[in-house]
Amino acid sequence: MDYEALAGLLYPHITATPDDLERRYPPRTLPEGAKVTRVAPSPTGFVHMGILFPSFVSGLLARESGGVFILRIEDTDDKRAVENGTEQIVAMLRYYGVDFDEGIERGGAYAPYSQRARAEIYQTCAKDLVRRGLAYPCFCSEEDLTAMRTAQEAEKANFGYYGSWTKCRGLTIGDIEDNLKKGVPFVLRVRCPEPDGKPVVLDDPAKGRIEMPANGIDHVLLKSDGIPTYHFAHAVDDHLMRTTHVVRGDEWIATYPLHHMLFDMLGFKRPRYIHLAPLMKMDGGSKRKLSKRKDPECALSWYAGQGYPVAAVREYIMTLLNSNFEDWRRANPTAEFGAFPFSPRKMNAAGALFDLQKLDDVSKNVISRMSADEVYAELTAWAGEYDPDFCALLTREAAYTKALLSIGRGGAKPRKDITRWDGAKEYLSFFFDGLFVPAAVPDPDFCGAYAEVYDPADEQDAWFAKIKTLGEAHGYCPDVKQYKADPSGWKGSVVDASASLRLALTGREASPDMYAVMKLLGEKRVKERLVRL
Ligand code: GLU
Repeated sequence: MDYEALAGLLYPHITATPDDLERRYPPRTLPEGAKVTRVAPSPTGFVHMGILFPSFVSGLLARESGGVFILRIEDTDDKRAVENGTEQIVAMLRYYGVDFDEGIERGGAYAPYSQRARAEIYQTCAKDLVRRGLAYPCFCSEEDLTAMRTAQEAEKANFGYYGSWTKCRGLTIGDIEDNLKKGVPFVLRVRCPEPDGKPVVLDDPAKGRIEMPANGIDHVLLKSDGIPTYHFAHAVDDHLMRTTHVVRGDEWIATYPLHHMLFDMLGFKRPRYIHLAPLMKMDGGSKRKLSKRKDPECALSWYAGQGYPVAAVREYIMTLLNSNFEDWRRANPTAEFGAFPFSPRKMNAAGALFDLQKLDDVSKNVISRMSADEVYAELTAWAGEYDPDFCALLTREAAYTKALLSIGRGGAKPRKDITRWDGAKEYLSFFFDGLFVPAAVPDPDFCGAYAEVYDPADEQDAWFAKIKTLGEAHGYCPDVKQYKADPSGWKGSVVDASASLRLALTGREASPDMYAVMKLLGEKRVKERLVRL
């Protein structure tokens, strides 16, 4: 067979050669050890954890090594692509602070970064394979392939286009020409060499060493519209973009032998692979994969609606990636998480457990470490979208709200009152007359009497001394120890007296420091709430 002639017949419009591509996309000049990574989502309109998770790993690897991080869009599947799918991915990744050096939107020297725009690049590599007798056109129709599968099933043979099942492998150039003249659509298949029995070895830092049988199937490289399959696009793009580390889901491990073979045939150096286990979740008593269909928390859009700060979700993902992250965070409470020494080897090979309770804990800690101004800005932005009335109140009362948010903040052990923005309103409610919900108070008389003596100018000691003295007159033992030793003759201790005040002023049994709370509520509000009873 004259492969040169066949190549010209199949791809007459392609004039470039792989050498031209090598010149157009030369090896990068980067420092020794710099990693080139990429994330390659498909624009299906659903931006999920399965995109964010590898983005974090890829971004960290590139960042830590002074390398390059690329965003490539895998839009080869026209049926699944939606309008604005790419914009949604870009916006969502940006929202979560994923920063690219190069790629769709940003551009770069290895453009284009969407696969549909790279059709001629794939066809250039494909034409070269045809020229070298390593790929051939297949004119089998859907019906032919279904018939093949039925026959394979009947014979209990392995499925796929291989060996004696390869109807189109043996076509002559005359047959091919006839088909092309008749306009019969064709796909391009790889001509798989006879397997030599040598296994393919994948050495993956996250998964360890995996041995698999070599690929024996004549897989499709280019579909009938000339657009590549994932496998071919992966080999061509990751070579020409000079990717050094491919981070992707472990569902791709099974097709690794094919990728191994394609890199060899194309004469490309293979990248390192890091395959990520899927995120898991407890469902009843058993673990299962986090599901795009069943679990709303799989969608990245869900977190904003629930009021999780971006910083909390980012921090939480780090805890899932490397379990030693939490110890590191305790030792470095204010460090940027990019400073964490991330290691792919420390990832959970079986899949980290996704747990919203844990996310809440992380979120509480993250919010407790923010300054009052940061909390105010994020909370107001969140409320602007999800609770406009609350947003209006926060904006009207900006200085007051910032003062409220400052209580118990900034020290070594900050208060952890807010878990998510959607709970902040409830936490802050008693500070605003319009939101305050009064509660039943055990001792209204004491509260009324206290209103008479409350002086906002009192220092904290004097303030507490007054509660003790007045409390004693109302039957509350000023000394808690003494009261515990012998409660007879008392209504309670100063703790119970304070509890009445707290309930009257805040409507709840627990609150931040009462001295600070009263100062902020102001004399008028304090007295109104105490005497209203
Ligand atoms: N589009 C593929 C996916 O979403 C990308 C896999 C890869 O990163 O190679 O699974």
